[in-house]
Amino acid sequence: MNVVMIGSGYVGLVSGACFAEFGACVTCVDVDQTKIERLKAGEIPIYEPGLDDLVARNVRNDRLGFTTDLGTAVAAADLVFIAVGTPTRRGDGYADLQYVYAAAREIAGSLNGYTVIVDKSTVPVGTARQVERIVRETRPEADFDVASNPEFLREGAAINDFMRPDRVVLGVESERAERLLRELYRPINLIEAPILVTNLESAELVKYASNAFLATKISFINEIANLCEQVGADVHAVSRGMGMDKRIGSKFLHPGPGYGGSCFPKDTTALIRIAQEHGTSCRIVESVVEVNAAQKARMVKKIRSALGGSEAGKTIAILGLTFKPETDDMRDSPSIAIIPNLVDKGASVRAHDPQGEEEARPLLPESVSYYHDVYDTVTGADAVVLMTEWNEYRGLNLDRVLELMKGEVFVDLRNVYEPGAMEGKGFAYAGVGR
Ligand code: NAD
Repeated sequence: MNVVMIGSGYVGLVSGACFAEFGACVTCVDVDQTKIERLKAGEIPIYEPGLDDLVARNVRNDRLGFTTDLGTAVAAADLVFIAVGTPTRRGDGYADLQYVYAAAREIAGSLNGYTVIVDKSTVPVGTARQVERIVRETRPEADFDVASNPEFLREGAAINDFMRPDRVVLGVESERAERLLRELYRPINLIEAPILVTNLESAELVKYASNAFLATKISFINEIANLCEQVGADVHAVSRGMGMDKRIGSKFLHPGPGYGGSCFPKDTTALIRIAQEHGTSCRIVESVVEVNAAQKARMVKKIRSALGGSEAGKTIAILGLTFKPETDDMRDSPSIAIIPNLVDKGASVRAHDPQGEEEARPLLPESVSYYHDVYDTVTGADAVVLMTEWNEYRGLNLDRVLELMKGEVFVDLRNVYEPGAMEGKGFAYAGVGR
């Protein structure tokens, strides 16, 4: 089966490599020539654990290739996936569909024989039908179906999520298209992962509703964490107690500096706009977005008050810049909201991230200095802020950290360490919600 993946970013590259591993013959296409050249040279342009081996193995076995020539790839394809970006549109918060529609027009021009065009990008309800319209207008005689197959992988665990998904959602309205998609996903049947077949609109909405619900859990526990700080409760005990209830579940009940990343911020905003456009509202999600912005602002205040009321003239060492560990993705990372505030108030910031420095540099103030060693980063700092819970920060030599620092403030925005133990060592420790 010939599969084409349009867009070779976090989703396209992982999905393409995994479909190749499933046995399909996959061509990953991108408009970014440098990205394709790097991939052809055996270089992986993003950081995702295990992706280098998976790509190399499938390239070696002739099941995976890369090109900028969309036309030739599409002409030979049975299934063409659209996995381009759908960022927030400037000004109105709606999902920007220009890349999806551009891809649809290009695909239409090259269709050759029956082809299923599959939206894998996260797209507002109605997009698949719009893609269908675009292709039909461009090529009235073409033999094709459009399907929706939203992707649920998490960066940092993307390959396992793709290979062992909780579910695969297929929005598909023709038997021929469903047969081809089921055949492509056959290996996941062997592990008994469920496949949910729906109409196009439901499939599109499953994705937004799922992300908005997860974001809701995060904002919910962040509000509870703030309450814990006022009443002397420990949010970890509260979230554990909640999570033991199977109706609630323990996942996504970890307090922190607010959610970020390439999906939750844009998908929550887009869902609110989709609802408004259809004359209804998503008031819970509106609150979730507000609470999240407030949480980031609250973290700035937390750091300020840990420093005695002012960041001016203080040196702050930031550990972790990416929105979560095991990725180099900086899109909407809380660090982008927090660090400029500290710099504006006169702090000098030293930063460390195991993978994100290159992506972070253009997004953070120029005055931020970067270090490749955690202990160099904390040297001379008045405060250490643990921003992202990379494994590397879980087992710090805390005695050495304290010795190298000028001050003793440790602000743990991910609650990696135990308050009592930290205070016992001599840190002035502040966590979230405890
Ligand atoms: P990305 O920015 O990493 O990759 C998108 C790629 O598409 C880029 O390399 C870009 O150059 C390419 N592109 C744009 N227009 C093109 C065209 N006409 N032809 C060929 N290539 C083109 O984005 P991503 O993180 O992979 O996200 C892609 C989609 O998947 C988004 O809708 C996103 O919401 C969704 N999604 C992302 C994740 C995630 O964790 N990143 C998870 C689930 C779903």
